[in-house]
Amino acid sequence: MQKSITSFFKKKSDAGDSPSPPKKVPKIEAKAELPDEPIIKSEDGSPTIKAKVEPMSVDSGENTSPLKGVKKEQDSEGKTTDRKVTSIGLNSTSASKEDMENYDPSADSYNPLKNAYWKDKKVTPYLALARTFQVIEETKGRLKMIDTLSNFFSSVMLVSPEDLVPSVYLSINQLAPAYEGLELGVAETTLMKAICKATGRNLAHIKSQTHLIGDLGIVAEQSRVSQRMMFQPAPLNVRDVFRKLREIAKISGQSKMDLVYNMFVACRSSEARFFIRSLIGKLRIGIAEQSLLTALAIGLVKKNHIDDCKASKVQEVYKDEIVETTLLLKTAYSQCPNYDVIIPAILKYDIKELQERCPMHPGMPLRPMLAQPTKGVHEVFERFGGMQITCEWKYDGERAQIHLNEKGEISIFSRNSENNTAKYPDLIARSSGLLKGEVKSYIIDSEIVAWDVERKQILPFQVLSTRKRKNVDIEEIKVQVCVYIFDLLYINGTALVTKNLSERRKLLLEHFQEVEGEWKFATALDTNDIDEVQQFLEESIKGNCEGLMVKTLDEEATYEIAKRSRNWLKLKKDYISNVGDSLDLVVIGGYKGKGRRTGTYGGFLLACYDTENEEYQSICKIGTGFTDEDLQTHSEFLGKHVTPSAKSYYRYDSSLEPDHWFEPVQVWEVKCADLSLSPIHRAAIGIVDGERGISLRFPRFIRIRDDKNSENATDANQVAHMYQSQDQVKNNQKSCTQMDMEDEFY
Ligand code: ATP
Repeated sequence: MQKSITSFFKKKSDAGDSPSPPKKVPKIEAKAELPDEPIIKSEDGSPTIKAKVEPMSVDSGENTSPLKGVKKEQDSEGKTTDRKVTSIGLNSTSASKEDMENYDPSADSYNPLKNAYWKDKKVTPYLALARTFQVIEETKGRLKMIDTLSNFFSSVMLVSPEDLVPSVYLSINQLAPAYEGLELGVAETTLMKAICKATGRNLAHIKSQTHLIGDLGIVAEQSRVSQRMMFQPAPLNVRDVFRKLREIAKISGQSKMDLVYNMFVACRSSEARFFIRSLIGKLRIGIAEQSLLTALAIGLVKKNHIDDCKASKVQEVYKDEIVETTLLLKTAYSQCPNYDVIIPAILKYDIKELQERCPMHPGMPLRPMLAQPTKGVHEVFERFGGMQITCEWKYDGERAQIHLNEKGEISIFSRNSENNTAKYPDLIARSSGLLKGEVKSYIIDSEIVAWDVERKQILPFQVLSTRKRKNVDIEEIKVQVCVYIFDLLYINGTALVTKNLSERRKLLLEHFQEVEGEWKFATALDTNDIDEVQQFLEESIKGNCEGLMVKTLDEEATYEIAKRSRNWLKLKKDYISNVGDSLDLVVIGGYKGKGRRTGTYGGFLLACYDTENEEYQSICKIGTGFTDEDLQTHSEFLGKHVTPSAKSYYRYDSSLEPDHWFEPVQVWEVKCADLSLSPIHRAAIGIVDGERGISLRFPRFIRIRDDKNSENATDANQVAHMYQSQDQVKNNQKSCTQMDMEDEFY
């Protein structure tokens, strides 16, 4: 174990010194080892592969005969004839090679129609998408990245709308809605072997290049550019690549390897880079869900105004329309997170109809409503004034949205909309016990906690976290669980999110029943008496809970999908501490350990997430709260996510430069003594102070938050809010900015 960490350090420091991916890919002279396929030397001596590939054409494959060089064509009367294609490859489309290689959706002069060089064929070349990724990867500012992607999307919407769904999935490296859990993640060694076979390089060479550059995608591209093909396979197109990637994800063994090889052989230019990265599962272009939705919204507005406005001016001229479209799209997506449903709807209907056209339904996870932290009972009463409230015990387990659809299928989703169904076969087996009367479909919101069957009591979260995650066999379950239900969002075909909590609760009690040690309703107390709330808080702690959730009952009491609402307040047991809540932060860098910590990282750089600018802002260095075993685990995990340089969307001061930068892949829960203004950290910069950010004093690691992805980390606005809620800040600064986080997406 120790050995692998030490060797990793040596390896990664090399990688860390290597330059970031070159803009123009240099030609590398190939030193060919004989692959299985016949190799013919080209004029410049580099190996030439006689490609044996499945035909793929810019015509989506459907109208292409499996016979190489013969293309099916329809004449004006609709009769199908075979046409001999003398040369396939770049010349098979009416666009010139130059058009393809120089496609630049970031250009100020970009015209979504004129520059879509594939407009005659109406099938989007994979090269156009790869060029878009390449340009985005070379772009520093996030807004420009989004604008570039929106240009590409607007072209697809206008020219080849059928390709919008695959283009969107490929841009976020997903093969299906996230909750379906269809993943690629082909092992690097498998890909290296395919690259060797296709390019004639030997494995040691590919490995050493990858080690040096830190990116197998770039190595693959460099290896491909020096190849000469005897028969250039037909150009790849977006829909076929997507279809084949889905196929690759579903098969295994030699046929998987063959498919990867066939596809790779057909890649040209930067296609090889992004195809390989897709397969590894790391696209590295920095476009995540929220940026993608914004790019789609802007693309839509650009498409709608193609006749009256230059694409580069749309963001300025139609600012309000873009804000509205983005909000409508994000709102619809939070209740229907499925591009296969959303995209056809945005192409067909007015954006204002989107929410109605893409309704919530069981089987599809909703973005959960979230709470705001408070520091004490007084703050709760200040916020709610005379409104009727209810206090519920705040259970410390795992959030679970449990769905039953009309077919009788149960699905369980995490806070992060991941599909946890396979983790809880025991819950599914006993789910009918929960129902009272006839219930055909439902969505309930709940917390699953570990349960001590003998003592009939809740066990700490740590016990739940030892439960197996995948392929759980019901016979082998050691950690028993009990579900505490606190909300009902859908029943028998009707969405309840616009109803008040009182009504939702009434329906919950009407249709469901408790089963001892299996299904329980959250313990609740409806009171507006401050002493009773205080006492109930103490009782919740005695009952092994974290504190209370305080919620409005009748006024402002709808279920706010995807919002951190002020109508749900969390009151944790350690609220007496100055900060009130822990923070969930992203690990963006690591400092090599010294002394006892040699061989692992000894400290880390953490960041909060700024949802507005979509960037990670440094908030503190952390070196406390770790056991030796923690450091070992973190170093092993993060060591696999080292990136040669800081991401363009990391905001930090150069004095904080860590030994290694990481991809934003892990979230840690951290506690601290307090928050203070900092001249070097950048968290919430511009919110509380124009020049200074906020940093944590005496941060301490608590645990990994597996249930959160990095975009769900504590947001810059929350950090500012926590800073301003501190007593000493409140006392010193009478007029601090009022944070209104009601409309914030996370
Ligand atoms: P957040 O999700 O708000 O960023 P978090 O995931 O760190 O924060 P907490 O701050 O501990 O979680 O509080 C919210 C979570 O509390 C909910 O996501 C839910 O999992 C849990 N919870 C437990 N009991 C309840 C309850 N009665 N009502 C609502 N949520 C509850």
